[in-house]
Amino acid sequence: LNHLQGQRIGVVGLARSGLATVRSAIAGGANVLAWDDRESARDAAAELGARIAEPEDWAWPELSSLVLAPGIPLTHPEPHKVVGLAANAAVEIISDIELLWREVDARGLGDQCRFVAITGTNGKSTTTALIGHVLAEAGMRVSVGGNIGRSALDLDDPADDRIYVLEMSSYQLDLTVRFRPHVAVWLNLTPDHLDRHGDMTGYRLAKERIFANMGAHDTAVLGIDEPVMEDVAARLVEWGVPILETVSVEENEGASFFVNSEGRLIESGEPSVSFAPLPTLRGRHNWQNAACAYGAVRALGLTIDQVMTGMQSFPGLAHRMEVVGRRGRVLIVNDSKATNADATAKALATFEPIYWIAGGVPKAGGIADLAEFFPRIAKAYLIGQAAEDFSATLSRKVPHVIAGDLQTAVRLAADDAALDEAAEPVILLSPACASFDQFPDFEARGDAFRQAVNVLDRSHQETS
Ligand code: ADP
Repeated sequence: LNHLQGQRIGVVGLARSGLATVRSAIAGGANVLAWDDRESARDAAAELGARIAEPEDWAWPELSSLVLAPGIPLTHPEPHKVVGLAANAAVEIISDIELLWREVDARGLGDQCRFVAITGTNGKSTTTALIGHVLAEAGMRVSVGGNIGRSALDLDDPADDRIYVLEMSSYQLDLTVRFRPHVAVWLNLTPDHLDRHGDMTGYRLAKERIFANMGAHDTAVLGIDEPVMEDVAARLVEWGVPILETVSVEENEGASFFVNSEGRLIESGEPSVSFAPLPTLRGRHNWQNAACAYGAVRALGLTIDQVMTGMQSFPGLAHRMEVVGRRGRVLIVNDSKATNADATAKALATFEPIYWIAGGVPKAGGIADLAEFFPRIAKAYLIGQAAEDFSATLSRKVPHVIAGDLQTAVRLAADDAALDEAAEPVILLSPACASFDQFPDFEARGDAFRQAVNVLDRSHQETS
């Protein structure tokens, strides 16, 4: 970060992105003051050459910026005390992504080295990975990171033809000031993260920052399937955002990119490619991701052929409706990332008949909201703490069994699905629950599922 040469900055929150900030700032010749409540994190920053002191003791008027980790509250439930200290000294509060952008700008690469930013309530990681994959397959020099994978300052150094594809949470957008992506994608907006932003308005304003600095040749790609997003679109027009591409997978047929119920893309009213055959982008929600990615990479100059070739070979993300196996006609899908009923609804809407493995630590409301999908479920296999609760909700409407653990659930589901005569019965792990009663995190749960499937395949081979 050469633009920080000789400056004094503060870094608070020393997890991966914080430590990468310390490292890059010091390499660029900055003086860095750092703090984290965890001693091990402080030690790591000290080793990189940061000066460690409590923010109360910093010489605030000498600081040019405070770089804050996105997990530290700016407002809700109440601002972290370091936020007040910075505000009192009129020190700006920014993120590592803002610093990366400023470095590109300071090096005069602002027009060649491009940024694609992706936000939304759901589908951010999928869309970010998809855009990165399609661009890379088309031969572009891409670096993918931000809220997914590597943090911004752990990515490759700026070069004149590099494209940074960054997933951004609303927390990260809250910490941008001049950040100006060439293509900004905002997928959708549902009530989430309200604890941090206070209410929907605060959350929406944070997300709107993704478009705040757009210039004459920049492109905004906006999903407009929620009523509130139509308001956002209207405001963007008011703001004079130069190129606004709208995306709908519901009934907004007038959208720039409309995907009909068969997965056919209608581009400005004209039938175009179909997303339906894409093996790793099944379901209407993934068509939303695909259509937004399509708009983004077309804006960067890719041909339709390049886009579709890239999408066809997209491997998909682990644990998000990830196909982990096939036994005869039976498809086996790992959707361990679905930790709430909303996410599970997407998977249940995609397949039929479903042999559904669910449970873990339930969220408020349980699975009552999933009733409309119950007819698609051939049988449910319940695990973890939620098993009794979910059993009560399913009652006589859906055949089910309390399997207890994941291995048992996989074994029982495989036996039942093998007898199903449908064209493609699906064994689906989509728990609608957090995992921590039985697993450290959703990744471990998904890995255990894959392993249980492998064990099954081995014993199947041995007996046949
Ligand atoms: P994020 O990074 O925003 O959490 P992911 O791409 O990791 O999103 O997907 C998380 C889960 O959200 C997926 O398992 C899927 O069930 C659901 N999902 C993905 N894309 C969408 C979308 N466009 N709209 C609604 N839900 C989605």
